[in-house]
Amino acid sequence: MFEDLGVFLRLGDATDVVTKEMYDFEDKGGRRIALRPEHTAGICRSFAQHRPTTPWKVWYSGSNFRYEKAQAGRFRQFDQVGIEVLGSTDALLDVEVISLGWQFFQSLGLTNVVLMINSLGDPEDRAAYIEALREYFESHSEKLSEESRATLQRNPLRVLDSKRVQDKTIIDAAPTISQFLSEDAQAHFTKVKAGLDALGVTYSVNEGLVRGLDYYQRTVFEYVSTSLDSAQTAVGGGGRYDGLVENLGGPATPGVGFALGIDRTLLACDSEEVFQGASPQIDAFIVDVVDGMTALRLADELRAAGFTVDRAYDGRSMKSQMKVADRSGARIAIIIGPDEAEAGNCTVRNLMTSEQSLVLQTEVVTHLASIVGERNPRRNTQ
Ligand code: AMP
Repeated sequence: MFEDLGVFLRLGDATDVVTKEMYDFEDKGGRRIALRPEHTAGICRSFAQHRPTTPWKVWYSGSNFRYEKAQAGRFRQFDQVGIEVLGSTDALLDVEVISLGWQFFQSLGLTNVVLMINSLGDPEDRAAYIEALREYFESHSEKLSEESRATLQRNPLRVLDSKRVQDKTIIDAAPTISQFLSEDAQAHFTKVKAGLDALGVTYSVNEGLVRGLDYYQRTVFEYVSTSLDSAQTAVGGGGRYDGLVENLGGPATPGVGFALGIDRTLLACDSEEVFQGASPQIDAFIVDVVDGMTALRLADELRAAGFTVDRAYDGRSMKSQMKVADRSGARIAIIIGPDEAEAGNCTVRNLMTSEQSLVLQTEVVTHLASIVGERNPRRNTQ
């Protein structure tokens, strides 16, 4: 959860996550610490520290923290599940990584997730492209939104991320990265596309896709949910970061990986209704108008036998407890009044049909099982 602040500072001044969104503080030993805003940098730090054999394939899940403007689908604490592979530049590894994330969304049953890919080229291609973008946007800066003019000073690539209507026509006519790709980077991208085609993974190339973290080079990708109606529709993303380990003080080691946003994935699952609603139904509701002791004992016994049971509290009247029983959605009410308490039995009432019968308290478990079916016992009551 914590990482040495220096690890993230090495990601560079152009990375918003680092410059604007990081929670950092000094601990009691005077160390400068950050709450991790993402996992990849920490994994590369760990690789540089422990030098495992390559290819090194790892996965993670956990919380990240970013001091962002919170809104629908964008939180200050959010969870990610991700994978990273260090030690190979093979384009077909990019394909494996992309397709694994793709399959994850497919297996959840999400049909409205689209895959977008792009190549940011090698560092020199990227640098040349950034310069061309800077020149282009500066020559049109009076037409850009104020926010994009500020972004332009920090990182011209990120201007492409602007969703502001005012910026759209300028961005649409901006130079594209494909004009700047080296032969090697082009060949790599062609192989990635061929690999995805071979696996039947559908994608579209989006030259505006640059991703927020500035360590990416060559392949970048994003999974986007078209059923989320907020501004935040990316449910996951990743790419290749061949220079990152070296940047963090390790041996030159290529890497590729993805991070899937769990919170947004769950929002997408809700909007596509892929999960069956949880059944709110409980098996039995106990109404005890004597002193609550029989309800306490029976609820304990029935729960141990695996039934889902609730009861009323605070010694309320029969009428008020029956109302709660009706509202609870329970199929059966188990009622204990003074007569039942004295005779050691209870009235078992079917709340759907209003049929009722007297049952010995010692036989309630068996009786309930005969109505709603056996359950798996939660503990041994012998
Ligand atoms: P990133 O680490 O920025 O590449 O993000 C990868 C994925 O994490 C995104 O596609 C989102 O699904 C999710 N994510 C990133 N930032 C947030 C956030 N502030 N709140 C919720 N999910 C986020």
